[in-house]
Amino acid sequence: MLTQTTSSMRPSSSDTTMPRPEALVSRAAIQYPLEDQLPDTGQTVEVAPGVFWLRMGLPFALNHINLWMLRDHLPHPTQPGKVQEGWTLIDCGIDNPATREAWLQLESHALQGLPVLRVLVTHMHPDHMGLAHWLCERWQAPLWISTSEYQSALLACSGLYNFASQSTTAFYASHGWQQAKDPAALAKFSMGLYSSMVPKVPAAYVRLMAGASLRIGDRTWRCLGGYGHSPEHMALHDTESRLLISGDMLLPSISTNISVPAREPDGNPLAWFLASLDEMADLPDATLVLPSHGRPFTGAATRVAQLKTHHAERLAELLQACAQTEHCAHELLLLIFKRPLDGHQTTFAMGEAVAHLNLLWLDGKLQRRLDDEGVYRFKTAQS
Ligand SMILES: [Zn+2]
Repeated sequence: MLTQTTSSMRPSSSDTTMPRPEALVSRAAIQYPLEDQLPDTGQTVEVAPGVFWLRMGLPFALNHINLWMLRDHLPHPTQPGKVQEGWTLIDCGIDNPATREAWLQLESHALQGLPVLRVLVTHMHPDHMGLAHWLCERWQAPLWISTSEYQSALLACSGLYNFASQSTTAFYASHGWQQAKDPAALAKFSMGLYSSMVPKVPAAYVRLMAGASLRIGDRTWRCLGGYGHSPEHMALHDTESRLLISGDMLLPSISTNISVPAREPDGNPLAWFLASLDEMADLPDATLVLPSHGRPFTGAATRVAQLKTHHAERLAELLQACAQTEHCAHELLLLIFKRPLDGHQTTFAMGEAVAHLNLLWLDGKLQRRLDDEGVYRFKTAQS
């Protein structure tokens, strides 16, 4: 069960969402069993029977995304009693000429002459969702995705979530980032409009839900809901073969971005993310985790413990910093991130900083007040 604190809840003194540094228990180290195997553009690496790894480039500092192709078979649509062999794709890459070209290369030799039967998207971020519309149309294949992710993609694609909107600039300014009051400056810091990477969203979808089982080929996958990184992320777990397609919820070497967005300013995404990790905390050491960035790895429990410790340390530092003097989020960036940040990095960092502060505030560990300048200032609560 997830312990969700909604934005309408008042801060409480309960201690349910505060992570603690993990006790030193014996867990298997993180290992990369595929060693130096890495699929080139347009190529695949088989990581388990019928499960293929492919990579697409991204024009960002994070320069790649891992995608997965699963051998599948479904009842034939026009011939009752027969099955149709093919593929289920997991995530798509952004919509740009290079990614389309890579998919065409795969089509010519890696699909083994079989059609794409389904396109499954873990969450709505552009590197995962971008080409879903093109792949679904090209193969007349349905999109499988959770409802919140589908609807968020539709809204983002429509331009309703404009990064440099007044609500976004107001949100950043309310946490002390004065430069963000200039929408033109803020627009420069963005990665680009969502609709430039996800120009269309398929007109219909099949709903994925946490806890549901999904048969793909000869494997049964359980959907693991994940919260805090995106609205309703779905990871897939094959318990029998010990495979976890983790999406962005469990990455081997970078910590998942957890940000408070302007449209949900009093949200508690860090608490939701940490609660979601609990579902992955007891995976057997041998489970092969297939992440969206980085290399497939084992040692999921160790990685979960590392991430919990990482966030617990940041939270403890914030409590200490706010014990003597009250601070706004912008003043605390250096403490959290330990290095100067450019404008683009600051957009992510502000969301992350507010995520940590909101968790402490909603847990009753910090008090928050709006000062005369309209900036939220946080101070450690007296116990
Ligand atoms: Zn993501």
